[in-house]
Amino acid sequence: MQEIRIKNKTYALPIFLPDATWGVARNLDSLDLQRVGLEGVMVNTYHLLQQPGEQILQKLGGIKKMMNWPGFVSSDSGGFQLFSLINQNPGMGKVTDEGVLLYNGPKRQHKTLFTPEDSIRMQFILDSDVMICLDDFTPPNASEERIKASVKRTVSWAKRAKIEFAKQLTQRGYTANNRPLLLAPIQGHNHYKWRTYCAKALQKIGFDLYGLGGWPFTENDQFDYSFCQRNADLTDKNSLRFALGVGSPENIVKLFFMGYQFFDCVLPTRDARHQRLYVFKVDPQTLDQNELKKLALANRLDEIFDYLYIGKGIFATDKTAISTFCDCPICQNAAIAPPVSKAYLHHLFKIGDASAFRLASLHNLRTYTQTMEILRR
Ligand SMILES: [Zn+2]
Repeated sequence: MQEIRIKNKTYALPIFLPDATWGVARNLDSLDLQRVGLEGVMVNTYHLLQQPGEQILQKLGGIKKMMNWPGFVSSDSGGFQLFSLINQNPGMGKVTDEGVLLYNGPKRQHKTLFTPEDSIRMQFILDSDVMICLDDFTPPNASEERIKASVKRTVSWAKRAKIEFAKQLTQRGYTANNRPLLLAPIQGHNHYKWRTYCAKALQKIGFDLYGLGGWPFTENDQFDYSFCQRNADLTDKNSLRFALGVGSPENIVKLFFMGYQFFDCVLPTRDARHQRLYVFKVDPQTLDQNELKKLALANRLDEIFDYLYIGKGIFATDKTAISTFCDCPICQNAAIAPPVSKAYLHHLFKIGDASAFRLASLHNLRTYTQTMEILRR
């Protein structure tokens, strides 16, 4: 089993982080996250810079102290959100070689520049354990000229981020043993000449982890496995790879066998809010990595993973637990919370009670951590 040391703790790989963009995995508290076996969360630097803001975070001693979270935190640079914002509404700002320029104020008269150095400095204030360099997201369908510009900028920003990272480590007295890790995302969309250039240039600078930058979907909105495989192959064999924003349990299992060890996604909690629950068709205790590898290679993972739509009328009178193969507080562990029947959860969703979102999220997240446990076996 592969392991990684992050600051002073060792974690088994692969590892899944739920998205806690604003410092909260929606509807769940820190204890909830621990109960379902989560060890890390992904927060967003740009969002937390807006609220609660740099000064408050500094006074509180970072996001983990604020959340009272004993696990580790990875922080997204904020690049993806900024570029989505600007792509949707070009009047909001623009990307320059210096950084991302944002216009605010009623007449957009105020300008703020968010640089790769700002992003790193802010991630130190967050007290993040796995930091991500600001990158220039390559939009799908971009022209070659735009792809080249995005790759060149991503590399130059990563170089600047690493210099700022080293400066902060010295200033804050970190040693080689207790320092946070730094990740650089690889850009270039599916233009492999530029994606290869990006990966090589980033490896020359040297980072702890390499990220799957970009949008891993085909034009028909299908998950693009060959894109993910080719991206993994661009980094040295022993590299640590983070499949940023991925994915469903099936996506994660397949990408693990391609060489990715880190995953973060909004899917389990978002699907929970949309009444879509993940269930195992087979007892996960009876499965190991080899078994999943066989099924993944044969495209037979649907024999293991299934969904259940708790809003369906057939569940209104179903007294059974969501899954007999799940040991989450909702399905089984009466010591922490009474088991919740499908009928009760169906009812809670029907009346729109906030507890439904929490219970469904806990269950879905446990399916993800159970999947990690199988892959570690
Ligand atoms: Zn459960």
